[in-house]
Formats: sequence, structure tokens, C-alpha cells
Amino acid sequence: MKLLLVEDDEMVGESLQKGLKAEGYSVDWAMKAEDASFALETNSYDIMLLDLGLPDYSGLVLLRVVRQKHNQIPTIILTAKDSIQDRVEGLDAGSDDYLVKPFSLDELLARLRALLRRKRGSAEPLLEYNGLILNPKTFEATLHHQTFKLSTKEFAILMALVETPGAPLSKAQLEEKLYGWDDSNQSNTIEVFIHSLRKKLGQGWIKNIRGLGYFIPKDTPKGLH
Ligand code: CA
Repeated sequence: MKLLLVEDDEMVGESLQKGLKAEGYSVDWAMKAEDASFALETNSYDIMLLDLGLPDYSGLVLLRVVRQKHNQIPTIILTAKDSIQDRVEGLDAGSDDYLVKPFSLDELLARLRALLRRKRGSAEPLLEYNGLILNPKTFEATLHHQTFKLSTKEFAILMALVETPGAPLSKAQLEEKLYGWDDSNQSNTIEVFIHSLRKKLGQGWIKNIRGLGYFIPKDTPKGLH
């Protein structure tokens, strides 16, 4: 899951980035509305976390422009402003949710999971495909009644593949989901994660087509491997 964090407060930004990364999210952090706008034009994100008071222009203006461009990126506004008027304006500008600072990381994480569920069009907290069940809260995968604990990166890869069964994702697309702007020099690790996932799930679950990428086939193996 790739997040765009828009926050000009260094301390808040750093602690959020650290906490979110520990939970397996990859985070690009923009400190100005203009930088966020550019990031949204050039990358694809699963969710935007948006502070309202930014040094160049307001997060509300940014969000209105984003929605005018028909970008439906799920958005949670994070702000110290707690008047009802501000909440209403934020939601009316196209925000999906609203958290008033200071908030706990646990609450933010729960709201992120809820928003991702809504994005998938499901109220079900578990993600299921052909008998493979993924739990975004515990980073566990269950297959044929066997439960595997996955690393956050393994989980992110598997989740991305499960969301687009049959459609290959290139190494670059997977890296994009896994790494933020400041996570350089980690790009040769996709193969390592795939290898480890195949060991856990069995060989038939993740296929690759040379030059195109990795995918979960529509006819996944039945029964134990
Ligand atoms: Ca601010």
C-alpha cells in the first residue's frame, strides 16, 4: 500500500512516516501542497493523508483541485483544526475521513484499513481469493487451513497480486508499491520476497512471465502443496 503523506510539520511527519512504515505502508512525504500536487500527477497512491495548514496553499484547495481533475484517491484529512465548520468543509471538499490532531497511530491505522476496505467495495476486513485469505491487520495469510506469518513487504506484494489476479505486475510496479522516495537501493529485493512467498504458499501461486511481471493465476492450485 502506497501512501502520500502531506504534512509540513517535521516532527508530526517524521513520526507518522516511521509508524506507517513499521506497519508495511510505503510512504512518500510532501511538505508543501505544490509538491503533493506534483506527486499525485506522477505517481499512483492508494491513500492520501492530508494536513490542511500548509506553507504554500491550503490542503482544502489542493483536495478541491484533485477532485476537479476526477482523481478519486481516498483521502483522510489530518488537522489540528477541530471546529465543526472545518470538518464539514473538509468532507465537502471530497475528503473521505477526518482525524483531529493529536490522534493515536492505532486509530489512524484502523481508519486506513477501513478506507482500503471501502475502496475494495467490501466491508469484510479479510481479503480472499480462491481460498487464500489475507488479514491486513496481522499480516497473515491463510491457505488450506494453514496460516503463514508474512513480513510487511511480503504482505504488500501478495496483497497487490491478489487485487489484480491474472494481470502481471512488473518489478517496477511492485517496487512502487513497496518503497517510498527515501527508500533507495532496495530494488533488487522483489525476487527475494517472491521466493519467500512461493516457499510459503507453494509454487503454483505466483507465476511470472519474463519481461512482463508476476501474477496470481486464475486457476490457482487446489489442495495442499
Ligand atoms: Ca500544518
